[in-house]
Amino acid sequence: MASLSNQTTCPYCGVGCGVSATTNDQRVIAVSGDGEHPANRGRLCVKGSALHETTGPEGRLLTPRVDGQEHDWSVTLDTLATRLEAIIRQHGPGSVAMYLSGQLLTEDYYVANKLMKGFIGSAHVDTNSRLCMSSTVVGYKRAFGGDLQPCSYEDIDHAELMVLVGSNAAWNHPILYQRMVAAKAANPAVKVVLIDPRRTATADLADLHLALKPGSDALIFNAILAALAERGALDKAYVESHTEGFEAALESANTTAGNLADVARKADVPLADLEQLVEWFCTTERTLTFFSQGVNQSSSGTDKVNSIINCHLATGRLGRPGMGPFSLTGQPNAMGGREVGGLANQLAAHMDFSQAEFIDRVGRFWQAPNMAQQEGYKAIPLFEAIERGEIKAVWIMATNPLVSLPDANRVRRALEKCELVIISECMAHTDTLELADIVLPASGWSEKNGTVTNSERRISRQRGLVPPPGEAKHDWWIICELAKRLGFGQAFDYASPADIFREHARLSGFENNRSRGFDISALAELSDAGYDALKPIQWPVHKQAPEGTPRLFADGHFFTPSGKARLLPITPQAPSQQPDSEYPLLVNSGRIRDQWHTMTRTGRAARLLQHHAEPFIEIHPLDAKRFKVTHLQLAELHNELGRYLGRIRISDQQRQGEVFIPMHWTRQFTQEGCSGTLFAPMVDPLSGQPESKQGRADLRPL
Ligand code: SF4
Repeated sequence: MASLSNQTTCPYCGVGCGVSATTNDQRVIAVSGDGEHPANRGRLCVKGSALHETTGPEGRLLTPRVDGQEHDWSVTLDTLATRLEAIIRQHGPGSVAMYLSGQLLTEDYYVANKLMKGFIGSAHVDTNSRLCMSSTVVGYKRAFGGDLQPCSYEDIDHAELMVLVGSNAAWNHPILYQRMVAAKAANPAVKVVLIDPRRTATADLADLHLALKPGSDALIFNAILAALAERGALDKAYVESHTEGFEAALESANTTAGNLADVARKADVPLADLEQLVEWFCTTERTLTFFSQGVNQSSSGTDKVNSIINCHLATGRLGRPGMGPFSLTGQPNAMGGREVGGLANQLAAHMDFSQAEFIDRVGRFWQAPNMAQQEGYKAIPLFEAIERGEIKAVWIMATNPLVSLPDANRVRRALEKCELVIISECMAHTDTLELADIVLPASGWSEKNGTVTNSERRISRQRGLVPPPGEAKHDWWIICELAKRLGFGQAFDYASPADIFREHARLSGFENNRSRGFDISALAELSDAGYDALKPIQWPVHKQAPEGTPRLFADGHFFTPSGKARLLPITPQAPSQQPDSEYPLLVNSGRIRDQWHTMTRTGRAARLLQHHAEPFIEIHPLDAKRFKVTHLQLAELHNELGRYLGRIRISDQQRQGEVFIPMHWTRQFTQEGCSGTLFAPMVDPLSGQPESKQGRADLRPL
């Protein structure tokens, strides 16, 4: 069989690299970096280059099931519709929920959200993106008046100072990290600073590493803001013309972080290092500040984000080459989900439940009979509502919350009690799948057809290159078929993902929606062939910017009512969970270089297991002595919520009193105890994002 070569997008992180795939009639047999894609310019990291080894028909979920029995699609969807209708009739639309995923394509997300919020009438639609970047969403909205990421990857080539906060880009955004390495090699005067409690692989590039006490990020950025003012490094004209709230933000920064020696002591970093960071930040115009889950996954993540943005607004450093605050999203389509309203507090096209006008506008556009009127439950309260019995039916798509959510044992209890658990999944064996009443086999990467948006607002095509195995179907098709059975056929009569994308693009320009910054209306008239040939493009894409927009806010206009950006007064908060005498170790969690999420795909490639083959507990040498554990010994972390098993790795890259565990391994591997079982469901009150970087536990050797 002749092979075909096609361009698509990698599904393993928010960098969104272009992939050239070679296929036979059943599977992808080889991949290489797409030299035409601006995100990666021909490169792939270890995970991306193993795509053909981690996907394919082996281990796939092939047949729909109801209560453990295999059925065809017709019977399965009829049963699903009947059971959902009965629950809605008896308990109301608020008794059903969806829990989605940044793995879904934008078109899947769009129809799921439309069905729930416009037609069933429930806003209980949240996504695992809540665990990834929801603090950034709120931070951007507070500062800019919209969920608007200002920068482009190209800015890396122009920056003179790159500050990475809570980001191990070397492992988690490798292609961007390589671009940073190249930028520094081309211009050795470029400075790189890493702010992270751990000395990660990213520190290899850093001129300066601040191994701060976890949770002190906002303190450090408040100190920078105070120093910018004291040393005359503000852009007063920019502050005057384009911002509001500066005085209150500065007062807060002076009060909480006006004394550098005091900040250095509280953040537990050398004063000279902090002085150096402040000096570079004050004197370097082209400064890029990257932040990721180390900032977002915090009970005060939103404030941390705004403390960073404050420093950029006070210096006018955004909207121009080589500068700005830059959120690195974790998932391949976390941004696309945000565009179509995949979060419980959003509607679609960057409209939300904050204004009756938005609800009315989206309702009229959809011609929706049962428009939800208020925001739904975010991820943690959503599963709590399931446990209480308030939510009777939940549809989980493309995610494994039994492993990834905090207090994972409680999530299990909630799903065990739930009247109807529906799971759309492409893999045959996941922890969460065991609890499903109705199982829907979904198509996966290389089979699905649609779009994703990466961390620089670039919309790219994921292309269906091979047919789904067995009876697996596309998520958008499954949702639309259910909608038809619920009596909403006319509004879900899409022939293809291109149809859905055009509607999404039309909504973005409907009744001057451009006032919120998200607008892709120039793509609303794409033909099917045009959609299929769509080149990667950065939104907004409208009549005045038909080729897209690399950088936002170049004109100093923002999307707040006044048109000015907002600085916020930030009072740094300590993390919710602190070690104590019973649970003396602070537990941090994160990714490792070669695995993705709960390993349902990357765990299949032997070569990706060579980097780390087992779950581990990284610990400082003095703590190893204190807890009487030795290198490579098996040990257990435990607390009042659960336990985690791993092999000890002694490392002086770790701060004393703190341990690091990878998030990937599941109960299926350890029998009991994945990383999620150790973390309390503490959330940022503004974003609802859980604090997955700060748990506490005791350690014992096994
Ligand atoms: Fe895929 Fe991310 Fe690696 Fe690019 S950097 S190849 S998107 S995992």
